[in-house]
Amino acid sequence: MQPEIHKYFHGIADQYNIVPHIRFKSAVESAEWDEENANWIVTITDQQKNQSYKLRSRAVISAVGSLSIPNSCQIQGHENFQGPLFHSATWDSTFDWSNKEVVVIGNGCSATQFAPIMTSRGPKDSPTPVKKLTQFSRQAHFLSERQNPTYSPAFRAAMRYIPFAMRTYRAAIYWGMEKDFAGFDIESGTSVRSDLKKTNAEYVKAHAPQQYWDHLIPDHEIGCKRKVLDTDYLASLWRDNMTLIPNDPIATIESDGVRTQSGAFISADAIVLATGFQTSKLLFPMTIRGQGGQSLEDHWNETYNGTPQAYLGTMMPGFPNFFTLMGPNTVTGHLSVIYTVECQIQFTLSLLEPIIAPSRPSMTALLNPAELLSTPSSVARLLRPNATAPKYVAVKPEATERHTSWLQRELKKLVWSSGCTSWALDPKTGLNVAMYPQYQFLFWMRCLFLVKDDFEFAYKDGRGKGWKMGGLRVGEGWRNLRRLGWMVALFSVAVGLARRRGLGVRDVNGLIGDVVQEGAGRVRGVLVALKR
Ligand SMILES: Cc1cc2nc3c(=O)[nH]c(=O)nc-3n(C[C@H](O)[C@H](O)[C@H](O)COP(=O)(O)OP(=O)(O)OC[C@H]3O[C@@H](n4cnc5c(N)ncnc54)[C@H](O)[C@@H]3O)c2cc1C
Repeated sequence: MQPEIHKYFHGIADQYNIVPHIRFKSAVESAEWDEENANWIVTITDQQKNQSYKLRSRAVISAVGSLSIPNSCQIQGHENFQGPLFHSATWDSTFDWSNKEVVVIGNGCSATQFAPIMTSRGPKDSPTPVKKLTQFSRQAHFLSERQNPTYSPAFRAAMRYIPFAMRTYRAAIYWGMEKDFAGFDIESGTSVRSDLKKTNAEYVKAHAPQQYWDHLIPDHEIGCKRKVLDTDYLASLWRDNMTLIPNDPIATIESDGVRTQSGAFISADAIVLATGFQTSKLLFPMTIRGQGGQSLEDHWNETYNGTPQAYLGTMMPGFPNFFTLMGPNTVTGHLSVIYTVECQIQFTLSLLEPIIAPSRPSMTALLNPAELLSTPSSVARLLRPNATAPKYVAVKPEATERHTSWLQRELKKLVWSSGCTSWALDPKTGLNVAMYPQYQFLFWMRCLFLVKDDFEFAYKDGRGKGWKMGGLRVGEGWRNLRRLGWMVALFSVAVGLARRRGLGVRDVNGLIGDVVQEGAGRVRGVLVALKR
């Protein structure tokens, strides 16, 4: 499956011509807000040349993920181990596990995916399995069946050729997952959770050796820790070369193995850490300095005792034109993070569009309804074309405070506050740093319909010195509305012409493109006349 996903990523990157815009092997070290010029100075290390350089940018959008900095090994003696010792997120691709003795630490989503592969005597071409894999686990996770259907050619053809079939199917999948949110409410979700708990326990008992049942069926509330989908993990526990040690943790690592708390020694050629990520340290180890030179770390120390919090998981007050995807409280227990990130992108672009787009909407934007609707401020700028474009946008501190207080209050009612240990909770403050407390479509709605008063836009003041803050300036009077009316009328004529020529909806876009190319000058003339 990995090559298929890899191919898909490459295909998308080529399709949208993304690759030329990427600087590979480049790590962002810091970003500093330059108040006078209203832009960010970003310091980057070119890892191939081992050189640092700076870039100026109007805006910074961080997409560093929140599960990308692995937890380091804290077990005493790890520096003495002679063989390979690495985290699953930084897998050593030269490591050949065939006939080796391997110790795996952890039993979450990562270990349960690679342990079955390492222990399996798969088809002819697959790697030889390990001689022995010893897995150490600390807590049980809910393991449930992985739905991974194979689609028949007929089904695929239906998806491709029947109008709306794919969208309807996607909507059904979406709703099937979205409705699970009801189970997260500590009080009203009890019956949903007890049904799920029963189903999970039955699944484990049907697939795992009995000796492990107590260590595979948790006693905490289901949903409190992230559930693990079974990728043949339970089947792998039957294998001779696989041992799970759930109740005798590693005390020390020695040069050729590990010693457990009970004193047992387990020899190892390699140790793989599947011990999770640094989730309560966001945008780390970069240094981000916003207005007044304040670092993001100091901002969070001052406001939430060090726990990262943000407006819609995306913006922090004092950090203008800075947006973070998969920021604080954007993870869901029931849907994909990719969906959340797409909503954040929508939110980010809506705020950035008046800043980075030209001060007037382009003819193409005006004549293409899809583009016009996707950039609402095009309408604003059409209504008031003379308005100076804002230079930056910042979220108001009181809006952030209101949002995060609501968020933490709501989270207290949900299953993540029911007492399990979970990476969603900041161990220092107990605040939930990861989860969003509502249905995901409500997150989407919040990203789509912005609360105008929560943001401030900065404009150059009259003398060109300093900044004046204000809202986004929108329209001023019926003359501008009349101008919009003309544009709608022109657009309707174009659509009417297309229809008379017997063209379908798809062709209308193409026709509009022609109208734009051929008639741009004439349309511009009409607009200039109107302006007078
Ligand atoms: C084992 C595991 C299972 C998961 N399962 C699911 C799942 O089932 N569903 C789900 O929705 N999510 C899942 N996730 C969460 C997953 O992280 C996200 O869905 C997704 O990968 C987030 O994409 P992203 O692009 O935001 O971040 P990432 O995929 O984490 O990408 C971040 C990128 O930023 C780079 N980067 C970091 N710091 C810097 C820097 N300073 N300079 C330059 N580049 C930098 C990193 O190298 C990386 O390439 C899982 C994560 C893990 C680890």
